[in-house]
Amino acid sequence: MSADAVVAPAKPAPPKLNPVRVPIVEEPVAERTTDFREVLHAYSKEEAILEAKRCIQCRRPWCVEACPITQDCREYIRLVADGDFDGAARVTLRENPLATCLCKVCYHYCEDSCVVKKKGVPIAIRHLKRASLDYGNSDLVYVPSKPKNQRVAVIGAGPAGLMMAWELGVRGYSVTVFEQERRYGGLMQTIPAYRMTDADVETDRKRLSDLDVTFVDGTKVGKEFPVDKLTREDGYQAVFISIGTSTHRTLGVPGESLPGVLPALDFLKNVNHGIPVTVGKQVVVIGGGDVAMDSVRTALRESHGGHVTLVYRRSRQEMPADPEEIHGAEHEGITFQFLRAPLRIVGNAHVEGVAVQAMELGPPDAGGRRSPVPVAGSETTIPCDTVIVAVGQKADLTGFGPELDLKLTSQGWPEGKGKGFETAVPGIFAAGGRSVVYAMGTAMDAANAIDAYLSAKRGEPASPRPDPLGGPEKFHLPPGYTAPIRV
Ligand SMILES: Cc1cc2nc3c(=O)[nH]c(=O)nc-3n(C[C@H](O)[C@H](O)[C@H](O)COP(=O)(O)OP(=O)(O)OC[C@H]3O[C@@H](n4cnc5c(N)ncnc54)[C@H](O)[C@@H]3O)c2cc1C
Ligand code: SF4
Ligand code: SF4
Repeated sequence: MSADAVVAPAKPAPPKLNPVRVPIVEEPVAERTTDFREVLHAYSKEEAILEAKRCIQCRRPWCVEACPITQDCREYIRLVADGDFDGAARVTLRENPLATCLCKVCYHYCEDSCVVKKKGVPIAIRHLKRASLDYGNSDLVYVPSKPKNQRVAVIGAGPAGLMMAWELGVRGYSVTVFEQERRYGGLMQTIPAYRMTDADVETDRKRLSDLDVTFVDGTKVGKEFPVDKLTREDGYQAVFISIGTSTHRTLGVPGESLPGVLPALDFLKNVNHGIPVTVGKQVVVIGGGDVAMDSVRTALRESHGGHVTLVYRRSRQEMPADPEEIHGAEHEGITFQFLRAPLRIVGNAHVEGVAVQAMELGPPDAGGRRSPVPVAGSETTIPCDTVIVAVGQKADLTGFGPELDLKLTSQGWPEGKGKGFETAVPGIFAAGGRSVVYAMGTAMDAANAIDAYLSAKRGEPASPRPDPLGGPEKFHLPPGYTAPIRV
């Protein structure tokens, strides 16, 4: 080798992956099923720092790409690893106006994409969000930009509506949120208190208090006045419809109106709000999604030592519920009866049982899931005194007419078209979705479209989201970010 030959610098060794997560402690089953105390314990400061140190700070942030609101989780994890909890709280809240709720109930799509999952258990990204708020200064309020003097009506105060109020409020728009209920949070109100509470929604909503956002409760738009009155008479220049899926689907089998048969949404909401519900000692819950999981676990607590059975028409593998929730229900001793479909509810003056038929799995349906096929002569009856029906929700479209040309997603959410979710009526947008953060992500995209629409009316360019905490930081996509993944 000549004296001046250049020696290539040695490639840095790839960071070492620690596949083992710092355990998230759960309340013991025997105690937690006696009441609605929180199941998951928060990390201590020291545990959070240890867990955050497992993150290898990927150059391409897979976790951020998988988050529907592109929360820069890589950055808050870095700050937690450094012990800078105030900084981590600031980063968390800067991009996430429902962080107090999401740090407890988000389905953490980010963790599914975390590279550490390839070798072991992914970084506990959601739980570290919680640590950032628990130990950092989360007592912050959002700051509006210069008033735009344009008004926007938001219909529905679920996650999508609250996200829209924040997105437009921090840009200086004047927003009114109409909600048919007396409480805010939409379907989050039905999530049991052992996972999150209404107080979490209120903690997040309080941070909007300095924005020009007015909440009007107990007002059902479309029924009490037509949607177009908002733009025609009331001076709103744009409308966002985020009405979600607030009514329950029924089974459509005989006996469903017997006393003792409860729709899951009403059951969960009443329990959360202290409205008395009557649950016997033998409960059957019908369904296989997240609402069914929350229903079995809530029924177990309400039955005070009773027995709860879940009836689902496919196998465990096809259950759409979050694996964490299925695990929780199994752990608490719920009996699962798979491949059983209800034929009728049995009883005279009250429920006495559910007649079910065995199923076997046939070929996949249009969505790729194997369809259940009835097995002839296989009818049996499960004795019970309470039945909870958790087979899905649908939108109540009263007053939202065909002129809007609303599209219904496969899970029933009404939305407009394209990336900005505009309906067939200019200036009226509609979105929402199948999880809290997913619904927020749709509202984030719709907010950009509404801002572009209103900016054009003012003859100005669209305004990117300013730093909602009043600092110099504009909304940014973290270095290495390529594109959002919407699954
Ligand atoms: C039991 C249960 C547990 C769940 N658990 C989780 C979980 O752990 N994690 C997760 O991410 N997601 C969970 N979800 C799903 C999540 O709650 C929803 O995906 C999310 O709330 C959808 O938000 P949204 O804003 O689109 O609609 P919604 O939450 O349905 O909000 C719509 C709002 O609009 C209001 N409204 C409807 N019509 C009108 C009208 N005409 N005028 C005025 N107001 C109106 C409704 O009252 C409601 O407040 C759960 C859902 C349920 C039911
Ligand atoms: S909001 Fe949910 S998906 Fe996004 S980073 Fe947090 S836990 Fe992950
Ligand atoms: S993908 Fe996982 S390891 Fe990589 S930055 Fe995100 S949390 Fe850290």
